[in-house]
Amino acid sequence: MKIENLAERFRVNKADDFRLKSVDPADCCGLAIDKGDAKEMLEESVKRLSRLQEKLYAQDRWSVLLIFQAMDAAGKDGAIKHVMSGINPQGCQVFSFKAPTAHELDHDFMWRTTIALPERGRIGVFNRSYYEEVLVVRAHPEILARQKLPEQLVTKNIWEQRFDDIRAFERYLARNGTLILKFMLHVSKEEQARRFLERLDEPAKNWKFSMGDVEERKLWDEYMHFYEDCIRATSRPEAPWFVVPADNKWFTRLVISSAIVGALDGLDLHFPKVGEAALKEMQAARGALQAELPKGRNGKGQKS
Ligand code: ATP
Ligand code: MG
Repeated sequence: MKIENLAERFRVNKADDFRLKSVDPADCCGLAIDKGDAKEMLEESVKRLSRLQEKLYAQDRWSVLLIFQAMDAAGKDGAIKHVMSGINPQGCQVFSFKAPTAHELDHDFMWRTTIALPERGRIGVFNRSYYEEVLVVRAHPEILARQKLPEQLVTKNIWEQRFDDIRAFERYLARNGTLILKFMLHVSKEEQARRFLERLDEPAKNWKFSMGDVEERKLWDEYMHFYEDCIRATSRPEAPWFVVPADNKWFTRLVISSAIVGALDGLDLHFPKVGEAALKEMQAARGALQAELPKGRNGKGQKS
């Protein structure tokens, strides 16, 4: 299979019928690859992404929003690090959204992410996002209770209303030139246990371990239900979800990279064209610059 097509298998197209169970977290699309091969494929994809990003930046029309959601230890951080590694840091911004501050709670639920949206020409990465508002907040009624919403606005319809607001917001962004791609890293409960154990066993990973994560794990089935519901409600052609198998990190990264490269390719990006008048000005500038150099030498300090 071509790497370009890898991600398409994991794009949620028929949202109404989507079942999380239909994606196997251990799936590798039959790619029997050793780590070396996977690394090479990812490097190739990252190079393509880097070239596309240069054009995105130069053209300065589109912006790209990449949203990452997952259960703990599914590999969001590693995926962001490896997939975005070849990119010019000037053209990329990463924001991680944790439990909101008091200041953030004084605003509507999409405020803090809205002010972090990528500018034209840039790639913005959200490590968690406003989707937490229909996931962790749904799993913990006490969090919703702290959101200072007027009482009469908190009804049983609140999640449907939030889905509706998210759909409208993403459609608005898309219509304004933001390419949106959303990734749910789908890890199995067993693999999560293995990764938590690694965090306990390896001193260099101890800092990543949190008792809170073990507590959240107890709500696994609720979370899976909320993820499924959310993906069904918010998969749209202008803001698709990719449910990416996450038990094998190399595979997760390949799929994500392939999705981003595929989507950017589809934008038909190009460097801004220089017009006739500007070309003439450039010729004149070239003449003036050359005249400033010692006679008989070109711009590189070599004899011309
Ligand atoms: P890792 O996978 O390495 O643990 P992380 O993204 O989970 O990384 P943490 O600092 O462990 O980072 O956790 C951030 C926590 O903040 C998550 O448990 C998440 O659910 C929570 N959070 C994010 N947004 C909200 C929100 N709007 N309301 C309440 N909690 C939120
Ligand atoms: Mg965490």
